[in-house]
Amino acid sequence: MTRIIAVTSGKGGVGKTTLTSNLGYALTELGHDVTLMDTNLTTPNLGMHLGMYMTSKNLHKVLKGKIKMRDATYIHPFGFKVIPSSINLEDLTGVDPANLKTSLLSLVGQTDFVILDSAAGLGRESLSSINAADEILIITNPDLPSVVDALRATQIARGQNKKILGVVINRKTNKSHELNAKEIENVLSIPVLVEIPEDKTVHQSIAAKKPLLEYEPNSPAAFEIRRLAYYLAGRDFPFERTQIKQRFPFLSRLIDWMLK
Ligand code: ADP
Ligand code: MG
Repeated sequence: MTRIIAVTSGKGGVGKTTLTSNLGYALTELGHDVTLMDTNLTTPNLGMHLGMYMTSKNLHKVLKGKIKMRDATYIHPFGFKVIPSSINLEDLTGVDPANLKTSLLSLVGQTDFVILDSAAGLGRESLSSINAADEILIITNPDLPSVVDALRATQIARGQNKKILGVVINRKTNKSHELNAKEIENVLSIPVLVEIPEDKTVHQSIAAKKPLLEYEPNSPAAFEIRRLAYYLAGRDFPFERTQIKQRFPFLSRLIDWMLK
């Protein structure tokens, strides 16, 4: 069975592409056949996160009917498949995002997971990826503007009768001005699946054009992304993080002070 999951937020810059690329890695680690697709047609950057951007065959050409989906499918060195969008502005002419849903049919039965990295906002591009998916993963940062935009995305997905898996909180710092998981659940009326901490190794991994799980597999953010992958795969998460804060309170305060 092929599951088509859209990673959607409403607000831009909250971590959709980072989550998509790393879910590709984590689900592949779990033995699944995974296909990542950049449905952000106007400002694509999934390929950039993965060091795969000189891609002359891409989703734009598929949507225009010029090539087949399999021709635009590249294999990441770790084994998951990537269908990039074109970074060339000229390729945008004549592309209709509404063709996405029918184009995706060619992947059904070919792969276990199709993860759609969505565009920011709730315009035609991001609506078409919600429409093309069966399941929706909402992602937000723990601040009010992100959560309000996530609510709009959730309402749209609900209106289209999509299965909403839940919300991922990304870039959590535990500072007092943040909304906590309970508050976010109350606003969105969907469960929080995982809380990914603010983690500076994320920036480093993007600069290195590698998924965080490859670049820094034991980082706190990688740990939580892996937890989410287990959940999506329907498996119990067998690890627990050593509670350094409880075991070494002085060290923990020192680290917090250094990160300020
Ligand atoms: P989107 O696809 O929603 O626009 P991105 O995945 O491109 O968002 O992430 C936007 C920025 O946020 C990137 O610069 C990335 O480094 C940063 N970022 C994402 N997740 C984290 C995290 N958990 N910790 C620190 N920085 C993060
Ligand atoms: Mg993005």
